[in-house]
Amino acid sequence: MFKEYLQKLQDQHLLRRLRTIASSTGPTVRLDGHTVILLSSNNYLGLATHPAVIEAAVEATRQYGAGSGASRLVCGTLTPHEELETALARFKGTDAALTFAAGYLANISAVPALIGKDGLILADRLCHASLIDGCRLSGATFRVYHHRDMNHLEQLLTRRLPGKPTLIVTDGIFSMDGDIAPMRDIALLAERYGAAVYVDDAHGTGILGETGRGTLEHCDVETRIPYHMGTLSKAIGSTGGYLAGSAEFVAYLVNTCRAFTYTTAPTPAAAAAATAALRVIRQEPERRARLWQNRHHLAQGLTSLGFRLAASESPILPVIVGDPDRAMSLAHTLLTLGVYAPAIRPPTVPASTSRIRFTITADHTDEHIDQALAALAQAGRALNMI
Ligand SMILES: *Cc1c(COP(=O)(O)O)cnc(C)c1O
Repeated sequence: MFKEYLQKLQDQHLLRRLRTIASSTGPTVRLDGHTVILLSSNNYLGLATHPAVIEAAVEATRQYGAGSGASRLVCGTLTPHEELETALARFKGTDAALTFAAGYLANISAVPALIGKDGLILADRLCHASLIDGCRLSGATFRVYHHRDMNHLEQLLTRRLPGKPTLIVTDGIFSMDGDIAPMRDIALLAERYGAAVYVDDAHGTGILGETGRGTLEHCDVETRIPYHMGTLSKAIGSTGGYLAGSAEFVAYLVNTCRAFTYTTAPTPAAAAAATAALRVIRQEPERRARLWQNRHHLAQGLTSLGFRLAASESPILPVIVGDPDRAMSLAHTLLTLGVYAPAIRPPTVPASTSRIRFTITADHTDEHIDQALAALAQAGRALNMI
């Protein structure tokens, strides 16, 4: 049964395999004995390898141990967890914050904590898989609106049964396309029709907005959106997820989220690393500036080579290729030329929109980007894509 299933995936060019990287995560990595330029990490600000972040993780491990011993509610809440939540609330400008072992866990438990069987969820069609799983687990009626389509969202809002509790769910930056949710319009519709809004800002946290507070700062709607979710695993360079909001909201989550209660607390190292990263984000704004400069460089290069770029507004730069086998060919050729960026295929993205999802970080140099563009020019021509 396994064999046939895997063979079928292989025939459709949809088989996934793990590859081991024998180094830290970028900007270049060791892969199969070669050094290649990594263009697919979400370590946007390079904080996973920042000396102060590493030092904080090491120091916390020495002081508090490698593991945290139990669930947060049993005896797993250690000083590094509390310090992180204080720092996160300060960063997000909310009263309080709660962290989870992963962003995925935050979404699959917070959405069901906020809405149940009697409710209605309206979600953007391109929401992250963890949000969709959270929506399904909630048992609420679940409808998707066309991607970023406010007319469709409004239509669904007007068609509701009167008095139906409603939650609008969206990514801040969409993870596979790199575009930004129209948060001002969403806030307006939510206010007009009496719905609540839950934003997953996994990719916006740390990189968007004047001070890096994310998509809501960028769109100037921070105080109008009640439920802010994000990860510590992307720009923040550690692992974990969080929700930020009022003190009552956080206390409510502590008492209702199953993936908070029934899992062991994140390691002291992960929590301390994230706290240190938040400090670096505040103290080194030049990293964010460098990220956007690099993003501009790579986006311009891809466009002038003639690649079909998705309508991205972020450091996620997807080149849409179409069929999965074409995307696999491009990824393979790029790797032989020293650039690592795997193909993204269904079911992660809709059929016939297979792509290479390039991401750029603050740690890439101009030389890395120029080298990658030269490889892209060669690969694109060899495969008749440009
Ligand atoms: C990565 C991601 C998550 C999951 O976060 P983890 O911390 O990696 O579990 C959730 N939502 C979005 C939009 C993401 O891109």
